[in-house]
Amino acid sequence: MTTKSKSDVLIIGGGPVGLSCAYYLLKSGRKVTILDANEIGKGSGSGNAGHVVPSHIIPLAAPGVVASALKWMLDPAHSPFSMKVSLDPKYLMWLLQFVLACSEANVQRGIPPLNSLGQLSAKNFAQMIAEEKFDCHYQEKGLLFLYKTEAAFSGGKHEGDLMQKHGIPVSVYDKTKVHEVEPAALDDVIGGVHFTGDSHMNPALFLKMLSDRVRAMGAEMYENTPVTGFESAQGKVRVVRTAVGEFEADHVILAAGALTPSMARDLKLNIPIQPARGYSLTMSATKQMPRHALILGERRVAVSPMDDLLRFTGRLEVGNGSMTPDPRWIQRIENSAREYLRIDEKLDIKETWAGLRPTTPDGVPIIGRSPNHSNLVLATGHAMLGLSLGPGTGQVVAELINGKKTEFDLSPLRLERF
Ligand SMILES: Cc1cc2nc3c(=O)[nH]c(=O)nc-3n(C[C@H](O)[C@H](O)[C@H](O)COP(=O)(O)OP(=O)(O)OC[C@H]3O[C@@H](n4cnc5c(N)ncnc54)[C@H](O)[C@@H]3O)c2cc1C
Repeated sequence: MTTKSKSDVLIIGGGPVGLSCAYYLLKSGRKVTILDANEIGKGSGSGNAGHVVPSHIIPLAAPGVVASALKWMLDPAHSPFSMKVSLDPKYLMWLLQFVLACSEANVQRGIPPLNSLGQLSAKNFAQMIAEEKFDCHYQEKGLLFLYKTEAAFSGGKHEGDLMQKHGIPVSVYDKTKVHEVEPAALDDVIGGVHFTGDSHMNPALFLKMLSDRVRAMGAEMYENTPVTGFESAQGKVRVVRTAVGEFEADHVILAAGALTPSMARDLKLNIPIQPARGYSLTMSATKQMPRHALILGERRVAVSPMDDLLRFTGRLEVGNGSMTPDPRWIQRIENSAREYLRIDEKLDIKETWAGLRPTTPDGVPIIGRSPNHSNLVLATGHAMLGLSLGPGTGQVVAELINGKKTEFDLSPLRLERF
């Protein structure tokens, strides 16, 4: 096995998080190498909903989530959620940590860092897309939740109130107003909650443009180069082993999404992340396209109009690490969309897709230096927000590596909290 040239900063993983780190490091004058096991920008980021949601400040682990999950599992044909059945001790420990984190205290701990990272990311997205002229159908039209039942609408309004208290802009629409704002909604939609500071885009186009830009800025990029192990000495990562050779670097960033934990074992790091599989279904534009990025409230299906394409995404399958879409669920996601929206009888399906959300037990990402290695930074665990929180993560990771004061306090995001 030959040793390749030594890098300044070596990033493992070319998803939304790794590419965003590369972009801000290159802008700050660093030299960057990216290694990806597959094609850069094509992992779990490309087929996602493309929602940029600074409004999502409540961590996944919150009071009532376990009860809702159990209730949903009694209705398996419609449930937006499932869980692998396994006796794997690491998985059981993750489940236990998740259940214990479903508390008000966890929500209060999670909101400040998610809010800071979300706001920073949203600002960085707007700036990056404008400065780099990325044509990725980026639209600042907010995210509109549609509801068909009073109970769900009332829950949505309650969440909206909480978010408003933290500075998130929210508009609540009654039946008349929601149909005026979103004419694609079917008549039995009774109300909506609109997070007007959110935006959306075509994530595959964004990642392609970001990856091309990062290459043009001088990054060395190695695709089909899976990292297979590490050598550490004196509290530093000395060698990164891959299937095609060895790499050395002054700084290493681990940004391998849901696959981070298996790699981290070699570094004697226990990173509590489980994959949570989800699906998307992309079709040619229908006659009556939704005007907004949507969430179909009761069904938890996301809708993304992307110029000449329309995408529906949904389902959260904890513990499922396969990236193969299950056709039954693709059909059920389409059925859910038909319960809310005027869409064509016959759809021209362009792509069905599955991706993995790297999910931590407390619903907050892991960003910070490794407790065991002074030259290793962890940037992972963004669950359902890896695209949305990418540019903020990229900026703070670059600040960390450059020895600068970070934009906000990263201590609630450190691995040591587990
Ligand atoms: C259905 C669905 C809808 C979603 N919708 C949204 C949304 O609207 N907004 C949002 O913000 N997020 C959304 N997400 C979540 C988002 O896609 C993830 O959070 C995001 O992809 C995580 O980014 P990442 O860069 O950390 O990891 P990934 O995107 O998984 O990228 C990690 C990269 O690391 C590489 N890698 C893995 N192992 C190795 C190895 N051994 N060696 C080298 N490279 C390796 C992989 O090939 C991959 O390219 C959605 C996810 C799903 C499944």
